[in-house]
Amino acid sequence: MKTHLKILSFVLISVILSTGLHNSCYAQEIEKDLEIRALLLGAPDSEDLQLFNKFIREALPEEGVNMLVVRFRYKYQFESYPELADEGALSKKEVKQILQACKDAGVKLIPKMNFLGHQSSRTKVLPLLTEYPEFDETPHFEPPDPYVWPNEHDFYCKSYCPSHPDLHKVLFSLMDELIEVCEADAFHVGMDEVFYLADSKCPRCSGRDKAELYAEEVTRLFNHLKGKNITMWMWGDRFLDGKTMGLGMWQASMNTTFKAIDLVPKDIMICDWHYNEAPPTPAYFALKGFNVLACPYTDADVALSQLEHINQVRNSSNKQIATRLKGVFQTSWGNAKDFIQAYYGEDVKEKDKNCAECFKKLFSEIRNNSEK
Ligand SMILES: [Zn+2]
Repeated sequence: MKTHLKILSFVLISVILSTGLHNSCYAQEIEKDLEIRALLLGAPDSEDLQLFNKFIREALPEEGVNMLVVRFRYKYQFESYPELADEGALSKKEVKQILQACKDAGVKLIPKMNFLGHQSSRTKVLPLLTEYPEFDETPHFEPPDPYVWPNEHDFYCKSYCPSHPDLHKVLFSLMDELIEVCEADAFHVGMDEVFYLADSKCPRCSGRDKAELYAEEVTRLFNHLKGKNITMWMWGDRFLDGKTMGLGMWQASMNTTFKAIDLVPKDIMICDWHYNEAPPTPAYFALKGFNVLACPYTDADVALSQLEHINQVRNSSNKQIATRLKGVFQTSWGNAKDFIQAYYGEDVKEKDKNCAECFKKLFSEIRNNSEK
């Protein structure tokens, strides 16, 4: 009998070792496919709406995209604050057409705005601060003309003042409208590349701790969305220590906001963008308790490294960590029409071509992994 048990044990152990089960026991507990396979597109111009919706219906299901984040910023005809509609703003009817295309394609539509930073482009101030200049964190200077970077003000993009008492009523209305029209259950609040925060001349923020102020704003937006049962997505760069991680001031923070990572709710989808390298920051966010997506742009090698990292952590970690690595989020930063044309092989700018190529290679690899 003892001999039989020994033989049985030996056989069982041999089977486990030979199948590699001992290495991937954690992976057995999580879904094999990535839960989120998202793409970011700018809100289209009205004249490109048909092309945009055709792309959603045809290309997204074929590629395996299951979430489309549309970067509206102020490009929507808000009913609550019509004065905040930017040039070319889409009507409710037009957004409903986008939503219908997404429904047809089985793709979830997620609206995106930029909060805190990015209240101006390099060339113009965006509607929130032109219509409500009292919300400007730095009303005392204009973008340098001609625009040069870096410059004496460290100017990149304007921020709103998160401490202004009248601000959030406006922001929440805008968010609510976009959520409603998109029938969304997630909302992307931006919050990247914030360089103006607690400005020494702001009567409300001067002397405040930047990390605390940043965390307060994240939490305020989060609480509003949580109250509506909406998941908050945001960029992760302000939570990364640019000096210690060697990531610099763009894809990470050099102005101490990285300390805010320990001051905000964890139930946030962190969009961890890195365009020229693939540092192991998704694991960092997951270990801190956040859900996270790896976000590439134009470099397919970077995108594939990010995917490998996500899969590696998912396959080698316990379920609690592994399930926080939710997937990937391909970004695009030009005009949606240019990206779509590049996708269909038309001759457009190099950057759009690379971006579409990156998207194709990344999603092709995801499909390959899924079939294995
Ligand atoms: Zn302020």
